[in-house]
Amino acid sequence: MFSRLYLHIPWCQSKCGYCAFNSRPLEPHKLEQTCDLLLHEMELAARTHPRNQPLRSLYFGGGTPSLLHPDQISRLISRSQELFRHADPIEITLEANPGTVSRDSLTGYCRAGVTRLSLGAQSFDDQLLQTLGRRHTAAETRSAFQLAQQAGFTSIGLDLICGLPGQEMAAWQQDLAAALALQPDHLSIYGLTIEEETPFADRYPAGCDALPDHDLSASMLEEADSILTADGYEHYEIANFTRPGCRSQHNCGYWQRDGYLGIGPGAHSFLRQGWGIRWGNQSEYDVWAAALGNNELATTEHQELTREDALSEFIFLGLRMADGIGLDDFAEQFGERLEQRFTEQITQLSQAGLLTCSPERLALTKRGMLLSNQVFVRFL
Ligand code: SF4
Repeated sequence: MFSRLYLHIPWCQSKCGYCAFNSRPLEPHKLEQTCDLLLHEMELAARTHPRNQPLRSLYFGGGTPSLLHPDQISRLISRSQELFRHADPIEITLEANPGTVSRDSLTGYCRAGVTRLSLGAQSFDDQLLQTLGRRHTAAETRSAFQLAQQAGFTSIGLDLICGLPGQEMAAWQQDLAAALALQPDHLSIYGLTIEEETPFADRYPAGCDALPDHDLSASMLEEADSILTADGYEHYEIANFTRPGCRSQHNCGYWQRDGYLGIGPGAHSFLRQGWGIRWGNQSEYDVWAAALGNNELATTEHQELTREDALSEFIFLGLRMADGIGLDDFAEQFGERLEQRFTEQITQLSQAGLLTCSPERLALTKRGMLLSNQVFVRFL
């Protein structure tokens, strides 16, 4: 059914200009209420979906989960263990923003059972951080990283964004060097996308020259690949790099279509039942909270997947990973050979240097990772 649990913390210190995530500026008196509601939703969900495997990963995402006190994180972890059972070992990740953590809070998260810290660095250029609307400085990122190491975290990741307003290649190279100086176990690298209905959509309309053009943005991602892999990182997913043994197991679960339960406003769930069932929670905090106040789950957007939905998902999620897709796995799940059904697409995309196909596996090339949307659309 599901073996992964996602807990969404919808609060941030303030809203970053580019952010389209389901988050809102903090109302401090609501943090404790949020924690209680998450506990209540877990209990209702455990009754609704009683037969589950032990959890292999738990992920606190947001928003800014590091706004929660370690005691609140500890309560959520303990209750998830009671309700769903934890596999041994279990990966427990907490997303944190530099500037919201301290030596005490990081030590507390570690003691509560968090095994992995994902720090939203985004850039080491204070000017760019300000442009993005981030509330922290590069110095605070470095300090948070070092405090996390001292607190006992052995798996610490950083997120970086490239293609930022006015950013040149040299500035991006400096960001990569600054990140590498910390020797993180994991790096997630994203290109900035301008999302509708964000302040950035007004500030940077299509075609505006304040943003690096498409070629420069693509070159920045290539540069990240070349610098990080030269330093021993494995580029294991389109946007993710790892030291050996430090892949995000939780996110690998998404790409391998493991079942997961999402708790919190706007969180999404996927159960391995039939070809798969997906749904989302109400994204408005007050609507979500009101439903739980009535002892109801605030679910919406139920979708039962067809065989064709599942087949497309299997391909475009599986191809995100450098390991690619096991051709026998596909045949086992769908009763036909992928390489026979998509012979023409595979031939053309391989000739274009975007795919590589062995008798066992189909995978994106490095160039295919950069142009992944052009590949995925051919399998829909
Ligand atoms: S910290 Fe993250 S989730 Fe919060 S507003 Fe900024 S980008 Fe969005």
